[in-house]
Parts: sequence; C-alpha cells; structure tokens
Amino acid sequence: MPLMATNRKHRVHVGGLRQRLGQRLEIDISEAFPGLQVIASRTTESPVTGTLTIESIERGVSVTGTLKVPWEADCRRCLETVVGESEPFVDEVFQVNAPEDSEIIEFDGDTVDLDDVLRETAMASLPLSPLCGANCLGPDPERFPAGLNGVGSEDTDEDEDSEGAMLADPRWAVLDQLDLN
Ligand SMILES: [Zn+2]
Repeated sequence: MPLMATNRKHRVHVGGLRQRLGQRLEIDISEAFPGLQVIASRTTESPVTGTLTIESIERGVSVTGTLKVPWEADCRRCLETVVGESEPFVDEVFQVNAPEDSEIIEFDGDTVDLDDVLRETAMASLPLSPLCGANCLGPDPERFPAGLNGVGSEDTDEDEDSEGAMLADPRWAVLDQLDLN
C-alpha cells in the first residue's frame, strides 16, 4: 500500500508532560489523508482538521478531541458523487505496558505516534451507506440494474435499504446545512 510511505508527522514527545498527572497539551491537526476508502466512501485531498488534547494519566497519556474529516462517496442509490464531512471523536489511551487484548495503545512512555490514530479514525468515520439526499429517487434501472449489490433475498435487501435510509436521513439533513467550502 502506498499509504505506508506517508511521512509520520504526528509524533509527539510527552516526556515533559508526563512529569505531572493531569497536565495537558493541545495539538492542532491539519493533515490530508487522501485515498482511505471504505466501500463507496473515501477521504479527499482536503485536510483532516481538529484539535486533540493530550493529557498525562497514570502510566501514559489520553488523547481526546473531535476531528473534521472531509469525504466523498458514491450515493448508494443513484451512484452520483456525494460530498460531506464527518466529525468523529477521538478517545485513545497510550500506556506503558498496556494490557493485552485491550484497546489501549502500547508506547515507550515518551513519544506518542498519532498518525495511525488519525488515519484509523478518519477511515472509521466514513459513511457506510451514503445517500446523495434523503429523497434520492433511487437507482436508475437503465444505468444500474437492480441486483447490482444483491446477494441475499430481495426482502432482506429492501429491509436493509429502508433501515439504512432512516439512519442516514438525519445526518444528511445536518450535512446539508454545512458550508463545505
Ligand atoms: Zn442518490
């Protein structure tokens, strides 16, 4: 994957911060992670932005904050391009001697590497079943015959479709109000 060659720009030294529990450091993020993809959604050349707070805790640091992740996608009904912005919340803990089988990220006690956190958070925030609008007229049967995505029975597909639309509609209503420039 070409992504592996990306420079790791978000290594943060926290040795000083960890001198006292509860000390905080704010990190401004503005970095594009183009090319991350989940099904029909992908990140763009526009930077992922936000402010992360790194706080000294027992045996490590916590990293919290909200990111803004510009994305584009293919509408799952009509396949037109949709753009939007997700706002995932980052909530990670780095610890020395992190317990196995936990969500805690092992680190050396001095340097936290936020690149993987940023990349994974951005990717996880991409919409799984994007719609260009709540009232998308649906697939154009001449261009995209029904059954394109179908594996299971038609009944199952319809259930998933209506449920997905109900979940997605409120978010799209919000996105419609965003200034995407
Ligand atoms: Zn559509």
